[in-house]
Amino acid sequence: MLYGARDLRTTEMDIPTLGEDDVLVKVAAVGVCGSDMHYYDAGRNGLNVLLQPTVLGHEASGVVVAAGPLAGIDVGTRVAVEPAVGCGRCPTCREGNYNVCPNGTCFGSPPTHGTMTEYLATPARGVHPLPDTIDTVVGSLIEPLSVAVWAVERAQVRLGHRVLVTGAGPIGLLVAQVAKASGATEVIVTDINDDRLAVATQLGATRTINTRTTPLEDLQVDRVIECTAVPAVLWSAIRTVRPHGRVTVVGQAAPSVDGLPLAYLQRYEVDLVTAFRYAHAFPTAIALAASGAVDLDRILTGRFSLNQAAEAVQAPVQDPTHLKVVVTPDS
Ligand SMILES: [Zn+2]
Ligand SMILES: [Zn+2]
Repeated sequence: MLYGARDLRTTEMDIPTLGEDDVLVKVAAVGVCGSDMHYYDAGRNGLNVLLQPTVLGHEASGVVVAAGPLAGIDVGTRVAVEPAVGCGRCPTCREGNYNVCPNGTCFGSPPTHGTMTEYLATPARGVHPLPDTIDTVVGSLIEPLSVAVWAVERAQVRLGHRVLVTGAGPIGLLVAQVAKASGATEVIVTDINDDRLAVATQLGATRTINTRTTPLEDLQVDRVIECTAVPAVLWSAIRTVRPHGRVTVVGQAAPSVDGLPLAYLQRYEVDLVTAFRYAHAFPTAIALAASGAVDLDRILTGRFSLNQAAEAVQAPVQDPTHLKVVVTPDS
């Protein structure tokens, strides 16, 4: 439970009660996300501010240990948890765009409690069974992989495309793999950290560029997928796209930024689009991980117990060789 910036404590809570359509999940693992690190460090993430004590975490996997009468899922099923499934009733949800539901909540977005807990309750539509080929703990990475699946879908990556992925953090490394699985023949990954770029190469990037030492040239790529959240990176990446290319913003955007090269976008009719969470992406993410088309194991670099949660949310900042670390309430 986060009480304020840098004040994370373990506490006792009641096991949640279930609605007719809910399931109770015994949590096996929770991935630590950039947003958790921001909340821990500053008590806020983008526009969302911590105003009351809130449990962190939104990337979870576990085992269904109880189910409401209408849930339709067997007790014992191993699942990945989709943390934001919308209200299910508004026009946006009914169109299928539940990721941008104006009424929706998300685990771990204050004031909604998150998944760094031993038990969580969620509507049955928010859990996705894991096949035998995906380990339960690794299943917590299905959530960030779903971010990558949705990003590549929003980017409209097509067969034979040349794709530039800016940022080789966990999301960028997953986006690069999904872009390749989607038929991109060239995947260029940028970062300012050579260790991360080496992992990108291991995971199938065809070329890497350390932008600390090598400025981006005019690559004439078909697609850019921006995963750094650094505005200056986005502005320079926009100029690497061919006319009629497409740039997709995935990294958490700042509330407002100066420098958007709007006239340049217009001159070459470059599309600038955004991606927010994901809709209907978990089954695809599970299929990609199960088939081996995407390697999740290489991304998972650390495991921490629930009592070490404060350590876990600082680990990727303190040791940049970490990619995704998980908290394992079971252990
Ligand atoms: Zn996340
Ligand atoms: Zn809705």
